[in-house]
Amino acid sequence: MATIAEAPLSFASLPHPAPTPADVRASILANPGFGTQFTDHMVVIEWTEGQGWHDATLGPRGPIALDPAASVLHYAQEIFEGLKAYAHADGSVALFRPEANAQRFNASAQRLAMPELPEELFVEAVKRLVLADREWIPAQEGASLYLRPFMIATEAFLGVRAAKQYKFIVIASPAGNYFKSGAPAVSIWVSDYTRAAPGGTGAAKCGGNYAASLVPTAEAFARGHDQVLFLDAAEHKWVEELGGMNLFFGFEDGSLLTPPLAGTILPGITRASLIQLAREEGLTVREERYSIDQWREDAASGRLLETFACGTAAVVTPVGKVASPDGSSFTIGSGGPGQTTAKLKDRLVAIQRGQAPDPHGWVVKIA
Ligand SMILES: *Cc1c(COP(=O)(O)O)cnc(C)c1O
Repeated sequence: MATIAEAPLSFASLPHPAPTPADVRASILANPGFGTQFTDHMVVIEWTEGQGWHDATLGPRGPIALDPAASVLHYAQEIFEGLKAYAHADGSVALFRPEANAQRFNASAQRLAMPELPEELFVEAVKRLVLADREWIPAQEGASLYLRPFMIATEAFLGVRAAKQYKFIVIASPAGNYFKSGAPAVSIWVSDYTRAAPGGTGAAKCGGNYAASLVPTAEAFARGHDQVLFLDAAEHKWVEELGGMNLFFGFEDGSLLTPPLAGTILPGITRASLIQLAREEGLTVREERYSIDQWREDAASGRLLETFACGTAAVVTPVGKVASPDGSSFTIGSGGPGQTTAKLKDRLVAIQRGQAPDPHGWVVKIA
């Protein structure tokens, strides 16, 4: 759906009747967990066919009214993004590559037949929310303010077609570590289910992909693993990605490999950033298919030293153990974090947190 040319939107600020008291906020921020605590504000922007984007507000976070016939509730016309705001030591607040999230949001919108949001508007909405809730950015190491922009189809209509009304919303949640266990490396379960098929929605960040991953993820948890791994849908042989993270493999010769983006894998911004950082470190990074059998063999022979998962929420997380439904399992390296994994993670995190130069202009300071 084409974006209608429109005048820049002005945001209306709705006063908050009862913001969270400072002492309550402080106790939440001391131990934020992941995704359970929310800030005081949200941004909402409406879209209506023929009118485009309109009525942008920054106001108190709270329940939204939806008609029970709203298409999102029936046909899952929904997309989302995830990015973080960081408190830098100099007192400033920064986002990491928000334009990349804006671009991917629009790619998802196209796949789900939803209207595109001008990239500047996406970034402005995120910035406004972070500024309103900047007191909510946790200061401790490894913590940040997780931002969740999303879009839902709100039109009340039960016919199956693209809706004519949408809401774009941004909410924020103070975040600590994604993995509760805090273990040095995660254990993953190779699922018999598949996540995405060629021609499907695997490359779009849409809620439906996650709904379909919940049963496989619950299976992984029930067996004591931290995450689920999906293989390709056609041959059930090629490693694709985890439920919400991309994968990298590190070899004895210092090279890295990550599965190619061929439409069934979510194009992670962390993935793209790490490929670039690794190449700048002089490492060879191949975007090539890798089979589960080869992976097992390479782990056993010692040719493979490391495997890590990456994404905005979990950053870079070493994979220590892989288990399959046929009862087999294998350990990677020593089962803990590998050297290249640790080095790349440090490089990325230092840039995100303003502790290292940012030669690529990835960090966007907003205050
Ligand atoms: C969001 C997501 C990722 C990671 O993307 P980042 O931009 O690095 O956060 C990977 N896989 C899936 C399925 C995702 O939804």
